[in-house]
Amino acid sequence: PVYLDYNATTPVDPRVLEAMLPWFTDQFGNAASSHHLFGWEAAAAVEEARRQVAHRIGAHEKELLFTSGATESNNLAIKGLFESSPDKKHLITVRTEHKALLDVAAWLETRGVSVTYLETDTEGRITADQVAGALRPDTLAVSVMWANNETGVLQPVGEIGALCRKAGVWFHTDATQAVGKVPVYVPAAHIDLLSFSAHKLYGPKGIGALYVRKGTPLALQMHGGGHERGRRSGTLNVPGIVGFGKACELADPDLSALALLRDELERGILSAVPGTRVNGSVKYRLANVSNLSFPDVDGEELLLQLSRIAVSNGSACTSASVLPSHVLKAMGISDERAHASIRFSLGRFTTPEDIRFTLRYVAGIVADLRRSS
Ligand code: PMP
Repeated sequence: PVYLDYNATTPVDPRVLEAMLPWFTDQFGNAASSHHLFGWEAAAAVEEARRQVAHRIGAHEKELLFTSGATESNNLAIKGLFESSPDKKHLITVRTEHKALLDVAAWLETRGVSVTYLETDTEGRITADQVAGALRPDTLAVSVMWANNETGVLQPVGEIGALCRKAGVWFHTDATQAVGKVPVYVPAAHIDLLSFSAHKLYGPKGIGALYVRKGTPLALQMHGGGHERGRRSGTLNVPGIVGFGKACELADPDLSALALLRDELERGILSAVPGTRVNGSVKYRLANVSNLSFPDVDGEELLLQLSRIAVSNGSACTSASVLPSHVLKAMGISDERAHASIRFSLGRFTTPEDIRFTLRYVAGIVADLRRSS
């Protein structure tokens, strides 16, 4: 099948794999606490990777800690903040966040934190003014994702960051879908905490990072041997970290070539399948994503029929459930239309042939489904 699900995960780039391999076998040392060459070499490799990863987001390497992925980074950021400041009990976030943020917020609610869920417009965007309007004296933090995984919609994180800094409120962003796809520079966006993950940018799965701006309080979530400056214990995943570093070094957020392919696919489907609509802002959007809804077809049936392309409906991370996407619903899209929505996400290895095949294939299947319904 043609793989068009890069927002779910990406293949490891061969150059990343090559960089990782020695760290599984010959150079297998423990990066922490070893008093011999094996450990020192591993520690040096980790620090080199930390520089590469930090550089990708404009951070200082001391402000970056490695985690198992963006889910853990979000948990550490938000739980860590609220545990560190028990006197402040209000969080502001958005309805269209990933479950890895919304479920953390829901858990905090069971612990007495009150959460404001901002509503987006029909394009999936919020404004800094909405955030300003939701601030309370007991607001501790604001969490707004940089780019949405389902629609690719970009939020005005720079404006929100500036507002939070002025208001004295911590600002966290889940930038899992943004790093490697748009320029991400933490100082300019006034970010205090930023989550991301290697497997969305051609690195391995199970390794991610949390950027923690100097001075940001975080209560520990993983107690133990005091790794990562005492902020996240556990023996470091050296091959994963090296791979993440290499992936960040290779990442080029200029996706203008990919945007041409995405536009060819989107325009092609829109003209071949009358009534198709784009979900989310087309102006403020990642260049690799097209989320389309097809009227007059059954969504489940459509996904089943599309067996020769790997795409997703709604969030891949909740694909075990058949509920319509909470992201599309939050944008005011009906259940029926949300069900009949498909996310196409392109990436580094997508070819023009992939796109031409997909165009013909999707148009054919939708036409068949409509005839039979
Ligand atoms: N946040 C966003 C926006 C995501 O797209 C994902 C991955 N689907 C995650 C968090 C979770 O990342 P990880 O798989 O690294 O835990």
